[in-house]
Amino acid sequence: ATILAIETSCDETAAAVVHQRQVLSSVVASQIELHRRYGGVVPELASREHLLTVGDTVGAALAQAQRSWEEIDAIATTCAPGLVGALLVGMSVGKTLSMVHQKPFLGVHHLEGHIYASYLDQPGLTPPFLCLLVSGGHTSLIRVDSCGQYQLLGKTRDDAAGEAFDKVARLLNLGYPGGPVIDRLAQQGNPNAFRLPEGNISLPEGGFHPYDASFSGLKTAVLRLIERLQATGDPLPVADIAASFQHAVVRALTKRALRCAQDQQLSTIVLGGGVAANSHLRQSLTSLAAEQGITVHVPALKFCTDNAAMIACAAEAHFDQGHRSKLDLGVFSRLPLGSISQLYQSSNS
Ligand code: ATP
Ligand code: MG
Ligand code: FE
Repeated sequence: ATILAIETSCDETAAAVVHQRQVLSSVVASQIELHRRYGGVVPELASREHLLTVGDTVGAALAQAQRSWEEIDAIATTCAPGLVGALLVGMSVGKTLSMVHQKPFLGVHHLEGHIYASYLDQPGLTPPFLCLLVSGGHTSLIRVDSCGQYQLLGKTRDDAAGEAFDKVARLLNLGYPGGPVIDRLAQQGNPNAFRLPEGNISLPEGGFHPYDASFSGLKTAVLRLIERLQATGDPLPVADIAASFQHAVVRALTKRALRCAQDQQLSTIVLGGGVAANSHLRQSLTSLAAEQGITVHVPALKFCTDNAAMIACAAEAHFDQGHRSKLDLGVFSRLPLGSISQLYQSSNS
């Protein structure tokens, strides 16, 4: 099927056209510059900017795909989770276009989009597999058995991995968002310069939780390290701190993902979410997994961070199963992946 999708859950206004998991167009208007001076996303500003940009973004996606409205089979829009005001902008536009052009409408779960990013241009990928979803708001290990069948096996107990990157970048005065800057700086630093905690979660019966992690302690450890180094009066070894922090996060993530894949007897791991763009994570997970006979699929860099192609790809899978959303579908700031079925009804019912 040919799906036009809109994504406005956070700070990128995005639209894309996807046909049989092939990306015909993917347009992303990022608001990073707008939010940078506040050091994070300001929800009201995000909604207003989406409103100003969404029309042109959808028009550009359709034009770049060289498709007319007649050739679009359905319209999809991210409906959860995310900033409510931001989600509402995309949803209003998606529903309106669906009414005007008389196309079926599908609401899409943003995290299902991050999972589906791995399917783009990867026709060989088939479930079951384990998805390590690492983004600005989530850090999850998800067992994927089929479209809509997700089992959450591990998660962060506090900060998401991307959030940790952003907070540590802030401590080091590196600006926002922190992930890409730390990734770049870490390449000139020594990852073994400082030993930082891996965020283990202790169990009451002893030992550690095999899949869950905590990243807030790591952030505090970096803060203490910076304070200690600053007290010496020497210039701060920023690259070494960045590399050591990144190494601790990547070690924690790869260890848990590989253990989980083994326990679940899954031979494929896919990466998803903004932190999946991290070069050290991509390399480290791929090579360690290979030693255990596990294949790793990583989405193209531009499909790791927020985009609408991944949303269209997830929507296409639901559309092909006959799933449709009602036009009175609302937006949800939070929605467990297990509740995805409530977004749809069957087209033949
Ligand atoms: P969610 O998907 O959980 O709702 P989000 O949509 O805001 O959150 P994404 O756009 O998927 O998050 O990812 C953004 C995050 O990815 C930011 O925290 C950013 O710092 C991080 N990130 C981007 N590139 C890199 C990189 N190269 N290395 C590490 N982190 C990165
Ligand atoms: Mg974003
Ligand atoms: Fe995201």
